[in-house]
Amino acid sequence: MSLNRKLERIYQLLFDRYGPQHWWPADEPFEMIVGAILTQSTAWTNVEKAITNLKQAGVLNPLSLRQIPVDQLAELIRPSGYYNVKARKLKAFAERLEDHQDSLNRLFAPDLIELRQKLLSIYGIGPETADSIILYAAKKPIFVIDAYTHRIMDRLGLNSDFGNYATLQALFMDNLSHDESIFNEYHALFVRHGKESCRKTPACNGCCLSEICHHNNKSESAI
Ligand code: SF4
Repeated sequence: MSLNRKLERIYQLLFDRYGPQHWWPADEPFEMIVGAILTQSTAWTNVEKAITNLKQAGVLNPLSLRQIPVDQLAELIRPSGYYNVKARKLKAFAERLEDHQDSLNRLFAPDLIELRQKLLSIYGIGPETADSIILYAAKKPIFVIDAYTHRIMDRLGLNSDFGNYATLQALFMDNLSHDESIFNEYHALFVRHGKESCRKTPACNGCCLSEICHHNNKSESAI
């Protein structure tokens, strides 16, 4: 089976099992971006608490994030962990947005490659966060790679360069048509599958990918 067909098959099996995931869980694009920064190295439940605090304090907007003292901002986002660093990251993003008259449409105007470079030049935004913003806020087609994607693709026997973000991203970008809605759903499905079945200790029994999984087939042949 070609790589393209394999990737399409994985998507179909995951979608048939879990259905649409309705990502990203945010009311509007600016909130999505704040969530993408806050979710670095922490679980989403912690991010939700921090975002609720920001909303209740009335500071979930670029102007307020620039104006609020950094220590107060850190206190509001404390539930998300690494809160002093993340407070500086949120401020850095809000400050960069000021260069675009606080308009996400203006920030997102360049093509995908230029936008990615622009985002990566902002303090605190690495490849996964930049790509999440491009896909889920700017709605441009880029494949987001995270720890779940690495783990699942490794176990499926399709991750030849484990841990390398660019290599794994290229595998999807080079073998799937660039469809923003499919990339949106695919990444969300990987996260769902990584949380529910393909955990650190995988629950292979009944897994929707078991028929094509290298790890599962290896385990079975060892029995
Ligand atoms: S069969 Fe097991 S290792 Fe393979 S994808 Fe499913 S849960 Fe992960």
